[in-house]
Amino acid sequence: TTILGIESSCDDTAAAILQQSNGKGVILSSVVSGQEDLHAAFGGVVPEIAARAHVERLDLCVEKAIADAQISLSEIDAIAVTAGPGLIGGVISGVMCAKGLAAGLNKPLIGVNHLAGHALTPRMTDGIAYPYLMLLVSGGHCQFLAVQSVEKFTRLGGTIDDAPGEAFDKTAKLLALGYPGGPLVEKAALAGDPARFKFPRPLLDRAGCDMSFSGLKTALRRARDQIVSEKGGISKQDRSDLCASFQMAAADTLAEKTRRACLAFLDLSKAHSPTIAVAGGVAANGVIRGKLEQVAKDAGFDFLAPPMKYCTDNAAMIAWAGLERFNAGYSDDMTLAARPRWPLDQSAAPMLGSGK
Ligand code: ATP
Ligand code: FE
Repeated sequence: TTILGIESSCDDTAAAILQQSNGKGVILSSVVSGQEDLHAAFGGVVPEIAARAHVERLDLCVEKAIADAQISLSEIDAIAVTAGPGLIGGVISGVMCAKGLAAGLNKPLIGVNHLAGHALTPRMTDGIAYPYLMLLVSGGHCQFLAVQSVEKFTRLGGTIDDAPGEAFDKTAKLLALGYPGGPLVEKAALAGDPARFKFPRPLLDRAGCDMSFSGLKTALRRARDQIVSEKGGISKQDRSDLCASFQMAAADTLAEKTRRACLAFLDLSKAHSPTIAVAGGVAANGVIRGKLEQVAKDAGFDFLAPPMKYCTDNAAMIAWAGLERFNAGYSDDMTLAARPRWPLDQSAAPMLGSGK
C-alpha cells in the first residue's frame, strides 16, 4: 500500500508518501513547508495568514512529495489527511485538498486525528508494539497517553492550561529573544544560573499527572519586571539566568509528572518491558530530554525519542496513522469534516453536520 499524507493544522504545510515494511513505515518522501517567516513579526501563529498560506502551498507540497518519491499519482492507494484538531482554516484547506484528490483518483480517504499522528510516530519510526506510554510535549499540547491500539488512547494527564512550548515561546517574547522561542531560550540558558530565581513547580503537591505552566510564565514576567524596575533594564546575564531558571522549573515539573505517568501506565497496562516515547518540539530541549531519560531509566522504561523531523509537525506521521487505520478497516467518505477540537479518545473521524 502506498499512501499520501497531508497535514495543515498549524503553521506547517506538509505532504508525504509512505509505504509499510516489516511493521515500520518506509518514508518515500516528506515535504514540510514552514511558515515561520510569515508569523515571526507577530510572535505567534496568525490563523488567517496560516490558512491562506496553506491554500497556496498544499498543491505544491503534494506535487513535490510525489516527485521526491519518484512515483506517479496513479500509484497512490489511499489519501490520509489531518481532519483536526487545529486551526480550523488550515484543517479545512487540507481536508478539501484531500477530498479533491480522493474523488479525482477514486481512492479511499482517511481522516486522521493530528494527535494520533504524533502518538503513533514511534511505531512508524521504530515499529514498537502496543501498548506504550507517550508524552506529547509541543507548542500546542502536553499530555501523557497510554497508546493501546490505533483506536485506543487513554489520557493519563496533561496540562490544565498552557503547553510548555507555548511557555517557552512567551518567555522568549517577554525577553525579546525572538521566535520560535524554545531553541533561543535553551541557548540563552546555557550561560545562566538555574538556581537564581525560584520559579514555581505547580501541582506537584497534587496527585496524578496533570501539569500547569501558566503560573511559570507569570512568575517569569514578575521577575523580569522587578529587575527592570530596580536596575532600569535587564542585562544579558539577567536574561540568561531567567531562561535557565525557567527551563529548570519546566524540566522539573515534566520530570516529576513523567515519573508518575510511568507508574500509572504500569498499573493500566501491566506491560513487562515498558517503553516511553516522547514527541513534540519541546522534546528537542537537551535539559528536559536528559531529565526524562533519567526518569525513564529509574522506572525501568526504555526511552525512545524518534528523529526530530518526525516529532514536529509533518505529513509522514499522518500517512502512517492513516495506513494503520486503513489496515484496521477504517475509511471515510466525502462527509469527512474538519474539526477544530477533537479529543483523542473519540478517535473515529467526524462527519459533516455531526457538530462540534
Ligand atoms: P502542535 O503540533 O502541538 O499543534 P506545534 O506545532 O507548536 O504544536 P511542534 O512543532 O512540535 O509543535 O513544536 C514547536 C514548539 O516546540 C514551539 O513552542 C517551540 O518553542 C518548542 N521548542 C522547539 N525547540 C525547543 C527547545 N529546544 N526547547 C524548548 N522548546 C522547544
Ligand atoms: Fe503537532
